[in-house]
Amino acid sequence: MLVRWNFKLKSCQLQQAKMSQWLITLKKHRNYALREREIGYNTNNQNADEPVNYAWGSYCDLKTRVEYGGYCPLTCPVLKHGVIPTDLNIALKTSSSVIKWDSASNIQIKVTTRLRHKLKHFSDISAVVLQGNILKLDTAFTNFWRHGQGFPRYLRTLNSFNYSPGQVKLKTIKDNYAIVYLPGIGNVKMHNSRDLTSIQSVRTCTIKRAGGYWFLSMLVQIPQELPKEKSISQIKSVVGIDVGVNKLVALSDGSFVENIRVTTNIKTSRRLTMRQRAISRKRQGSQNKNKAYARIARTQHKLAQHRDGYNWQAASKIVKTADAVGREDLNIKNMVKRAKPKRDGKGGYKRNGASRKSGLNKAILDCAWGDLFAKIAWLAAKSGKPVILVNPKHSSQECPQCRHTDKSNRSGEKFLCTNCGYTQHADTKASRTIVKRVGLVFPKNIKKTLPGDSRKVMPVKISLPMGGESRNHAYESLNIQLSLFDLTQYTVADNRISKRYGKTS
Ligand SMILES: [Zn+2]
Repeated sequence: MLVRWNFKLKSCQLQQAKMSQWLITLKKHRNYALREREIGYNTNNQNADEPVNYAWGSYCDLKTRVEYGGYCPLTCPVLKHGVIPTDLNIALKTSSSVIKWDSASNIQIKVTTRLRHKLKHFSDISAVVLQGNILKLDTAFTNFWRHGQGFPRYLRTLNSFNYSPGQVKLKTIKDNYAIVYLPGIGNVKMHNSRDLTSIQSVRTCTIKRAGGYWFLSMLVQIPQELPKEKSISQIKSVVGIDVGVNKLVALSDGSFVENIRVTTNIKTSRRLTMRQRAISRKRQGSQNKNKAYARIARTQHKLAQHRDGYNWQAASKIVKTADAVGREDLNIKNMVKRAKPKRDGKGGYKRNGASRKSGLNKAILDCAWGDLFAKIAWLAAKSGKPVILVNPKHSSQECPQCRHTDKSNRSGEKFLCTNCGYTQHADTKASRTIVKRVGLVFPKNIKKTLPGDSRKVMPVKISLPMGGESRNHAYESLNIQLSLFDLTQYTVADNRISKRYGKTS
């Protein structure tokens, strides 16, 4: 199995200075390469009199994102109008017997190799790191053409660089630390809390800078495999989770995971505002401004780590609760859209609650639901438990007892069914509606527009680093009724006291 392991580096000041210098050069290198491709695209070599280094052609459309025949000048050079590059060898593939144009990235890599003989800043950097830098730009273009992402940007800061597989070597492995060899940097000590002896091979490694600290992210091959996912007949219990802002998670067994509001609590949000204000007071381009930037970066890094650790604990608690996890198929991106402006018809605008909505958006983003879901999916995959997605429509308004759906059922934290009088904490109720939906069976002829619409059981697809198992096998026959927790117990009001996660609840 391929897994990504992250370690904090205990690099010395010299090494840190070197890596920082590398990042500056690599940023310029990438921006230069991007600019070069853009110039190639824009000028299109129409003018045969102009001296050109490489030959490019225009075979793509940036608006419709269509590449014609794979000859886009941004990714592949093509001769047009008989323009011969000043140095033909560099634009040709040398290895093959047939004459072929090389790809843009390969040409730029060749140019980079020449630069390494001329410039000290480039010769200091390991050749594979420079190549990886160009390949990263290629990935950015692939994301633009094929995966609907934005056009590659010019970077203001670059915070990471890559080593290709087999470059980074583990030198010494001790109980709580290890020494790795990074080509061009040297031997670097790192904190270790994993069993490094079990590594079969080290794949791509990334060095990252975050909040003034340095990290090594390793993709490694380990002998352990993920267990086979339990089939529906083996599942004895399901836990439904409802994520929210008030309580981070409400579980269908009546317990809660509190929202600690990592960045939006009063103390921290005030501190962040103060740090931000301090930056804006400093003179542009001064050393003090840089220091202020470093200070806020460190604060934000620490907060991110705090949230990360808390979400791991929450995910672990949820996955341990039952044999399967049911959650809503939320579209978080749509939930944090800004409030639409309201026109008053006289050329002005009415109040639209934009300030309140932006505050809510901040609170939602602070929860990091998507991150929590990813952690739950990973922990569930590691213990062979399925994660089931259900339609989130009206999950907070529907009565789990009589299925009466009404907006007035809910008032604040309380849920009171206007039809049958069922009462419950609103979030716990929502999680129980979710757990009911997991077990719901619908006739096959129901009109299905979106995967999440039919209330049929949907498996979560988690993206494993490479070659992950398909998680679809358990749900091919959709007409199986999942055995649930005894639902009658849910009709009794839960009188357990909710406490902060970590203590017994
Ligand atoms: Zn009811």
